[in-house]
Amino acid sequence: MNETIKLTQQLIAKASLTPEDAGCMDLMAEYLQQRGFTIEWMNFGETKNLWARRGTTTPVFAFAGHTDVVPTGPLDEWDSPPFEPTIKDGLLYGRGAADMKGSLAAMLTACDSFIEEHEKHDGSIAFLITSDEEGPSTDGTVKVMEALDQRGEQIDYCIVGEPSSHKSFGDMVRVGRRGSINGYLTLNGKQGHVAYPELVENPIHALAPILSKMTAERWDEGNEYFPPTSFQISNLNAGTGVENVVPGELKLVFNLRFSSELTPEVIKSRITHIIDQHSDDYELVWRLSGLPFITERGELTNAVEKAVQDVTSSKPELSTGGGTSDGRFIAPYGVQVIELGPINESIHKINECVSINDLHHLSVIYKKVLENILL
Ligand SMILES: [Zn+2]
Repeated sequence: MNETIKLTQQLIAKASLTPEDAGCMDLMAEYLQQRGFTIEWMNFGETKNLWARRGTTTPVFAFAGHTDVVPTGPLDEWDSPPFEPTIKDGLLYGRGAADMKGSLAAMLTACDSFIEEHEKHDGSIAFLITSDEEGPSTDGTVKVMEALDQRGEQIDYCIVGEPSSHKSFGDMVRVGRRGSINGYLTLNGKQGHVAYPELVENPIHALAPILSKMTAERWDEGNEYFPPTSFQISNLNAGTGVENVVPGELKLVFNLRFSSELTPEVIKSRITHIIDQHSDDYELVWRLSGLPFITERGELTNAVEKAVQDVTSSKPELSTGGGTSDGRFIAPYGVQVIELGPINESIHKINECVSINDLHHLSVIYKKVLENILL
């Protein structure tokens, strides 16, 4: 049995629901310690984090990832128990197989093989592993990065093992993420009888022109790395449920996924400007969930493109789509960050699985990236 697959199976068998690690990091730490890594535990709150480093010089190349997994959903809908790794038709099934225990295993075996061949490589190899990625993400990567920064320890290059592949293995890597900001708008009016329009102020009517402008607005054109900023309304509530009452207030929740062409400040002022034209009695509360970040073309994108092409015979698309990941906590420290992992089609679903061939290839790609950067 291939070592990468064996390690993936061992990790899947540990039921590590966020923020539980269930011994996954102990397994990884032992493996890394045997290969010359210095192990350091950085625990915050309920969350266990591992920082392992081999070497004391720069550049520092880090693998980042999470051992925690999302809940299984109804057990009887799984074809095999989610924490009993099962191989069928070339696929390895189990919760976390694709997101992202397979990647963790591939990182370990890539290092093993790289170190065996190049014991005196340049710089350092590091692992930043957390068990708080699928949950609130407050005591994981974000805290480790703060701690490293405070003591002046810098990462230069980082690969996050998130399942980035889309239709075929290696077809896509993530080089950044859009920003995300939510607005909570309450429009105030005056409640009353529908038969007496002169005595009411209908907040639903007040919303009509606001809505039309917000949805028609062209926020930006995007740029080389990002698609145009998008605006979506997720909630709209008003009304008392009866026929003859004009409601006194309306609540609207909206979200913008924004490119690096915009800042939260600009978005806020443009939205406020639209609302101010049609209402002078409202509250607007903002919640910023993440700023956009981008790893521009450079050493890491070149190293990754070359490694993927060597193995799959085609270049990956550099994408900024998809949801958030811990890359958002690493990139702000000036780190070149790329997400590269298996196909994401089954992640978080019943019968999550990963191709055994793809995991084998992933390990080879990770090793080639190490060679492209540290030799
Ligand atoms: Zn993940």
